[in-house]
Amino acid sequence: MTSDNNKPTTTDAGIPVASDEHSLTVGPDGPIVMHDHYLIEQMANFNRERIPERQPHAKGGGAFGRFEVTEDVSQYTRAKVFQPGARTDVLIRFSTVAGERGSPDTWRDPRGFSIKFYTSEGNYDMVGNNTPVFFIRDPMKFQHFIRSQKRRADNHLRDHDMQWDFWTLSPESAHQVTWLMGDRGIPRTWRHMNGYSSHTYMWANAQGEKFWVKYHFKTDQGIECLTQEEADRLAGEDGDYHTRDLFEAIDRGEHPSWTLYMQIMPFAEAETYRYNPFDLTKVWPHDDYPMIKVGKLTLDRNPTDYHTEIEQAAFEPNNLVPGIGISPDRMLIGRVFAYADAHRARLGVNYKQIPVNSPQSPVHSYSKDGAMRVQNVSDPVYAPNSKGGPSADGERYPTDSTWETSGNQMRSAYTLRRDDDDYGQANKLINEVMDDAARDRLVANVVGHVKGGVQEPVLSRVFEYWRNIDETIGRRIEEGVKQG
Ligand code: NDP
Repeated sequence: MTSDNNKPTTTDAGIPVASDEHSLTVGPDGPIVMHDHYLIEQMANFNRERIPERQPHAKGGGAFGRFEVTEDVSQYTRAKVFQPGARTDVLIRFSTVAGERGSPDTWRDPRGFSIKFYTSEGNYDMVGNNTPVFFIRDPMKFQHFIRSQKRRADNHLRDHDMQWDFWTLSPESAHQVTWLMGDRGIPRTWRHMNGYSSHTYMWANAQGEKFWVKYHFKTDQGIECLTQEEADRLAGEDGDYHTRDLFEAIDRGEHPSWTLYMQIMPFAEAETYRYNPFDLTKVWPHDDYPMIKVGKLTLDRNPTDYHTEIEQAAFEPNNLVPGIGISPDRMLIGRVFAYADAHRARLGVNYKQIPVNSPQSPVHSYSKDGAMRVQNVSDPVYAPNSKGGPSADGERYPTDSTWETSGNQMRSAYTLRRDDDDYGQANKLINEVMDDAARDRLVANVVGHVKGGVQEPVLSRVFEYWRNIDETIGRRIEEGVKQG
C-alpha cells in the first residue's frame, strides 16, 4: 500500500512500481532475478548520490532572498543591480573553510559569505567571507595554505603544528590569524556576522569613470560570537548548529538582513596610497574611506532541496556584470579562474544549466553540447555568422572596467610602499579595536590552540610571530604556553 494512492511510486522513467519493499524473486524463498530493473535503479542511484565535496568550503548552508537598493550610488556604478530602487533576487551560501561536508559548524575558521545576484544583466556573484582580509596575497600559496589547514598525509588528522608552521613562515597571515583567534573567529550564528568582499573590485559609472571599491554587508542582527568553550560544547551537541539556526529562523518568519556599505577609492588614489590597496591582507581604514550606504539584503526563503539548490550552487567571482570589474588583487585574479574550474570539476561543464545557477536574464551564448547539456542549442552555432545568431555589442557593453598596466614578466612580491608591513594592522586590531577582555580571550585562544600539538621548531616561531605583532601579547602567549 502506498501512503497516498494518488501518487504511486514510479521508476525514474515514470513507470509504476509494484512494490517499495520486495525485490523480484524466484518464489518466496528463491534468489533475486537480475531483470528487477527497479531494484537495480535504486541501488545504482544510491551508489552515485554523493558528488565531490568542495575543496575548501565543503560544509555550508544557504537561503534565498532579495537585495534592495535604498540609496543612490549611480555616480559610482552603472550596474543595474545597484541603481536606485533596484530589487534583485539573491542566493547566499554560508560555510566554514577547512572542515569537510559533515564537520561541525562551530569550529574556529573564517566563514564563507557567497552571494549570487540574479540581475537583469546576468548573474553577478560575490564570493566573500566574514572577514575583511585573508591569510595570503598570492594565489600561488593558496593550495598550500588550504592543505596546511586540512589533514596530514600519514594519520589523516588535522594538525595544529602544520597550521602554525605555514602561518609563521607566511608573515602576511598575521592580520587574518589575529582576527581568527579573536572573538569573531567563531560567529554565534551566520545571522550574527558580517560579510565582506575582502577583495577590491572596480566600479565604473555611466560616464566610464572608475572607482576601486570594497563591499561590507553589515549584519542587522548585531555581531555575536561564541567563546571557544561554547563552540566546543556545541560541536559535540549539534554539529549542524549554524545550518539549523538559519533554516529555523527563516521558517519562523525571522528574516535575517544585512545592510550593504561600500568603501570607495577614487581610481587615481590607488597609485599613491600609502600601502598597496589591492593587498588582500589589509583593510582600508574607515577614516580614509568611510562607509557609503547602498541597500539591504534580506533572506526570506529556505531551500526545499539542499542538494540541488545549495550543494550544487556554483558561485564564481568571474560572474561580473557591466559596471563592475576586478582589480589588480592577485588573489582575486587567481579566484577568477579557480572557482569556475572547481565547478566544472565538481558539477560538469554545463553546471550553469542547473536551475539554481541559471540566470533570470536571457542566455544567448555559443556554448554547445558537453555532458548534461539539457537546454536546446539552435543554429547558427558559430560567430561571426550571417544567419541571425547573437552578436556582441561593444557599444552597449564596452570593456571599460579595466586598468592600464605594463612591465616585464617576473615572479615578485608587490612593490613595498611607505606603510606596507605585515604586522601593523594586526597590532591596530589588538590595541585599538579589542578591549582588555577581548585581548585576554585572544591570548587564551592562541595558547589553547598552540598547546594542541605545536612542537619545536615551530613553537619558537609562534612566539616570535606574536611578538612581531605585539610585544606584550607575544610575551603573554609564550608564558601561557610554557606554564604547561
Ligand atoms: P575602525 O575603528 O574604524 O574600525 C574597527 C572595526 O573593527 C570595526 O568597525 C569593526 O568592523 C571591527 N571589529 C570590531 N571588533 C572586532 C573584532 N573583535 N575582530 C575583528 N574586527 C573587529 O578602525 P580601522 O578602519 O582603522 O580598522 C582598525 C582595525 O579594525 C583594522 O586593522 C582591522 O583589523 C579591523 N577591521 C577593519 C575593517 C575595515 O574595513 N576598516 C573591517 C573590520 C575590521 P565592522 O564595522 O566591519 O563590524
